[in-house]
Amino acid sequence: MRAAELMARLNPTNIRYDVGRGGLPELTAQDIAAAIGMVSPGLGRELMCRLWWPEGAQLAAKELDRLLMEAQLGEWRRRSDALITAQLRAEVAESDRQRRVASTAVDAAKAEQWPRVGPGSPYAKIRIAVLAEMSAACLCPDCRGRGFVMIEGKIRGCATCETSGRAKVSDRARAEMVGVNRETYRTSIAPVYTWLIDFCQASLEPARREFMRRIE
Ligand SMILES: [Zn+2]
Repeated sequence: MRAAELMARLNPTNIRYDVGRGGLPELTAQDIAAAIGMVSPGLGRELMCRLWWPEGAQLAAKELDRLLMEAQLGEWRRRSDALITAQLRAEVAESDRQRRVASTAVDAAKAEQWPRVGPGSPYAKIRIAVLAEMSAACLCPDCRGRGFVMIEGKIRGCATCETSGRAKVSDRARAEMVGVNRETYRTSIAPVYTWLIDFCQASLEPARREFMRRIE
């Protein structure tokens, strides 16, 4: 997550032209911007810019939001389809054993369903909250977003953030961001929320690695 730190320095309020990197030649803002420019286009690169250097983004915030919405709806549909498939299997089951297996599968698929889509659905608010949580303002205070710390001269995974590099955000804070109470957050929002954070993290990681390769 050192990428976050480097890119954050390109923002007008933070701009510095002498980004130190511990004994290696100094990086200029132009070096950093050029390295970001070489990262393959796609969701990962866009997320990286949106979170750490908005001016470097190629897509407008609205277009990025649309990509994330499509990802959410794709997952919503996958879960929905899984339930329908399980229900059809239950319908055609012939033996008691098949019926038992099918009924267990239906219950499992039901438990995996996300809140319904349509007016008043929480998906847009979850996207906004997830991006806010992942942004540079929410880096882990102990490792400053790196995911690791130096202990007695050795690199160790950061225990505070469990190497995610992100500050821990409580369920209460997440519930507030989405505008629901904690009980609603826990029962229906949390699975959608954590899925989107994991999805963004997984999309971001290859872009972040590519950026670090370009810069080194
Ligand atoms: Zn940490």
